[in-house]
Amino acid sequence: MAVLAAENVSYTYQSKYQKVQALKNVSCTFEAGKFYAIVGQSGSGKTTLCSLISRLYDATGGSVTVDGCDVRKWKLSALRRAVGVATQEVFLFSDSIENNIAFSDLTMSEETAHDFARRAAVEEFAVKMPEGYETVVGERGVGLSGGQRQRIALARAMAARPAILILDDTTSALDMETEKYIQEQLKALPFPCTKIIIAHRISSVKDADCILVLQDGRIAERGTHKELLEKRGYYYETYALQNDL
Ligand code: ADP
Ligand code: MG
Repeated sequence: MAVLAAENVSYTYQSKYQKVQALKNVSCTFEAGKFYAIVGQSGSGKTTLCSLISRLYDATGGSVTVDGCDVRKWKLSALRRAVGVATQEVFLFSDSIENNIAFSDLTMSEETAHDFARRAAVEEFAVKMPEGYETVVGERGVGLSGGQRQRIALARAMAARPAILILDDTTSALDMETEKYIQEQLKALPFPCTKIIIAHRISSVKDADCILVLQDGRIAERGTHKELLEKRGYYYETYALQNDL
């Protein structure tokens, strides 16, 4: 299990024509084994924060550490093993559903791959396909819905057994019932894991040990569901909106 921390982290996207300061002095700690959620409007910096953790980019200010060690000092392959990210844009290989799930480990048994497929609600649609788990998906394979693609991406991320699992909007295309099922599965993963879930529905983040609210690149609110409701801020307003209050 791993402790993850952002210390005074800033990130600026810089192109020829403009600068976008996506993160501004963000500090937060993700303790080993706990469940965290990040919410915030589109453009508030959620995906950028995830990208700094897995080192898609490097922070332009401050540092991100895993187990006390700056991610820039980690061997990239080791970091990518420790940090599993399922992103908004799901990438599927032109391969079978099973191989898409077992991607991280070519020696993964069929049983294990199917176990994670069940946890991510893949099995229910996989078994209905012409070749079941052997059905080829991806560019050259059968077409899948956005929600089905997300479920395969989730199964793949879980099956890699990362010490830190980050789901960046990976449940947005799922119906409420499936999302709820997957939430339950995440709580009962068969390996120790720190979870960071980025989601829009309050129903999928309310059980988190700590919820961070990002606003314009800063952490505007943080706390449990109950604490944040009491604050009557952005979180409360989102909750009220989603629950017709
Ligand atoms: P969120 O995931 O919360 O929607 P992002 O982290 O994707 O937010 O984006 C934060 C800010 O950074 C936004 O203003 C967005 O327009 C900008 N941004 C994101 N990716 C890029 C990029 N590749 N180049 C320039 N600006 C970007
Ligand atoms: Mg995003």
